[in-house]
Amino acid sequence: MSPSSQFVPAERILLGPGPSPVPQRVLRAMAAPTLGHLDPQYLAIMDDACEKLRQVFRTRNALTFPVSGTGMAGMECVAVNLIEPGDEVIVCVNGVFGSRMKDVMERCGATVHALEATWGDVFTLDQIRTTLERHPKTKLVGIVHAETSTGAHQPLEGLAELVHGHGALLVVDAVTSLGGHELRVDDWGIDAIYSGTQKCLSCPPGLSPVSFGDRALARFDARKTKPQSWYLDVSMLRKYYTGGGGGRVYHHTAPINMTYALHEALAIVLEEGLDARIARHAAMHQRLRAGLEAMGIRYVPARSLATLNCIHIPAGADDAGVRRRLLEEYGIEIGAGLGPMAGKAWRIGLMGHGSSVRNVDLVLAALRTVLR
Ligand SMILES: *Cc1c(COP(=O)(O)O)cnc(C)c1O
Repeated sequence: MSPSSQFVPAERILLGPGPSPVPQRVLRAMAAPTLGHLDPQYLAIMDDACEKLRQVFRTRNALTFPVSGTGMAGMECVAVNLIEPGDEVIVCVNGVFGSRMKDVMERCGATVHALEATWGDVFTLDQIRTTLERHPKTKLVGIVHAETSTGAHQPLEGLAELVHGHGALLVVDAVTSLGGHELRVDDWGIDAIYSGTQKCLSCPPGLSPVSFGDRALARFDARKTKPQSWYLDVSMLRKYYTGGGGGRVYHHTAPINMTYALHEALAIVLEEGLDARIARHAAMHQRLRAGLEAMGIRYVPARSLATLNCIHIPAGADDAGVRRRLLEEYGIEIGAGLGPMAGKAWRIGLMGHGSSVRNVDLVLAALRTVLR
C-alpha cells in the first residue's frame, strides 16, 4: 500500500458469530467530533447511553454502564469485582464461553466447580440444584445465556431463586442475547450481567455493557481485598459512570466515539421496540431454519438460539471451501465451528441489523448454489 492510498474495506454481509452488520446511522454517529471525557455534552450523551442500556437490560440497576473493551472485558470486569481469592464458585460449561468463564474466574483465585454438559445441550434447574447442594460454600454461579459456540439457548427463569436460596450470586453472560432474545435482568433476579456491542446491538466491537445489582454491589463492598485489576475496579468506575461518591472523576479516558455509536445503536433498538425486535429475531430464525431443514441440514443444539444458528456441515461439503466461496462470491461471512466443533459445524448469525428477510433468503440461496 502506498502511503497515500486509502484502505477501503469491502461491504460484507456479516452473518457469522459477530460482528454483525452496522447500520449507517451508527457509523455516522461515530464520525461526530470527539469531545473531552469530562465535557458536560459528553457526560450527557454517556448518561443517556447508560439509561438506554437499563431499558434494554430491563433493569433499574444504577450501576449499568459500558466497560471499555469487548465482551471479554465485561466478563473480566464482573469476575474480578465479585470474586476474592479462595472463593468457591460454580460455572456451567457447555461450550467455549462457559470454558472461558471458568478460566477467567480461576485467574481471579476462585476454586471453580465446573458443571459440565455436552456441547449443544443446556442445563436444567435440577442439575444446578444438585451441584449447589454438593458445594454449599458456593458464592457465585456463572452461566451463559446464549452459548455462541454451539447455538444453545439456556433458559434462565427460576434460576435466581435457586441460586439465591443457597446464598450465591447469579452471573450471566448475555453477549449474544442482549437485544435479540428475551432477557429480563430485574424480573429474573440476575445479580451481574455483561454483553457486547457487536452482536445483537449491531454496533462495532469495542464496548461491553454491564450491570451490577444491589446484591452484587453489597458483595463488592464487603470485599477484604482490592480487585486485582485496576482498570476494571468498579469502585473507581462507578464514580465516573454514575457520578456518585465525589462526582465525576478521571479514571481512564472513555472511548468517546464508541459511546456515540452505542448511544445511536441503542436508540435504534428502542425505536424498533424490544418486543418487536425479539419477535423479528425469532421469525428470521424460523425462516432460516425452515430453509436449511428443507435442504436436509440439521441443527446442533436441541434448543437453538434465534441469534446464532449452529448447524452440522452436510456430509461431503468442504468446510473452508464453502465458507471461502460464500465470502468471495457473495460477500457473505458465516462462522466456522469452534473448539471440538471445528470442521463439523457452521454458525450462521442473525443478529440485530443482520436479522432480515433479505439476508436469510440470500444466505439460503447462496448455500444452495455453493453446495450443489
Ligand atoms: C462474543 C462472545 C464473548 C466475547 O466477546 P468479545 O467481544 O469477542 O470479547 C463472550 N461470550 C459470548 C457468549 C460471546 O458470544
